[in-house]
Amino acid sequence: MGRKFFVGGNWKCNGTTEDVKKIVSTLNAGELPSTDIVEVVVSPPFVFLSQVKSELRPEIQVAAQNCWVKKGGAFTGEVSAEMLANLGVPWVILGHSERRALLNETNEFVGDKVAYALSQGLKVIACVGETLEQREAGTTMEVVAAQTKAIADKISSWDNVVLAYEPVWAIGTGKVASPAQAQEVHAGLRKWFEEKISAEVAAKTRIIYGGSVSGSNCRELAGQTDVDGFLVGGASLKPEFIDIIKAAEVKKCA
Ligand code: PEP
Repeated sequence: MGRKFFVGGNWKCNGTTEDVKKIVSTLNAGELPSTDIVEVVVSPPFVFLSQVKSELRPEIQVAAQNCWVKKGGAFTGEVSAEMLANLGVPWVILGHSERRALLNETNEFVGDKVAYALSQGLKVIACVGETLEQREAGTTMEVVAAQTKAIADKISSWDNVVLAYEPVWAIGTGKVASPAQAQEVHAGLRKWFEEKISAEVAAKTRIIYGGSVSGSNCRELAGQTDVDGFLVGGASLKPEFIDIIKAAEVKKCA
């Protein structure tokens, strides 16, 4: 069974209601490939989730950018997985490097979050990736394997997880990984799945790339065997997000 191309748009902490209206109308007017060949998910800030979910064309799903690690309660400022499920939000992004770096989320904490979100019926875009220092020290595979293992240790199925490889040095910097660099890590992660989990999980789990993906570099990246889609930050707020979604056509022709 082939892996359906997946494109996520991470809007991060951006936008006003007017901006959101503009982005949604651009997405609603865009000519998109069929849902048979690409799955598209956009992730607005929590406060806009309901607005986007109700105004966006039904082929595009929504994701939250985070959720709490366990059942809701006395956790001021947090949003629980139960609340997202109750709102009909199907996806959540967890382990984004901005949260790991700025909010000190550890590998274990991210693993716990992924497990809890899955237990509540959410699907998860789980992010892993090395810093520039780690890459230069030659520890990229070790770092992403440890981040993936911390998730694997807490979950019993990868069916509802998309793994996003996002090198930290490429996020929001305009410095995209070369197609060969992306392919090397994606293939390494797939091998890790095969050796540590199962051949089936290795073959089925979508591994998407994130880090300065744009309308001009997306097709070459999509052409790599183990790149199953993208997680897009900055460009997901712009009309070029449509071109990035269309990169799924590269796989169809492959
Ligand atoms: C991201 O935030 O997940 C991301 C990949 O950002 P950008 O595309 O802006 O590098």
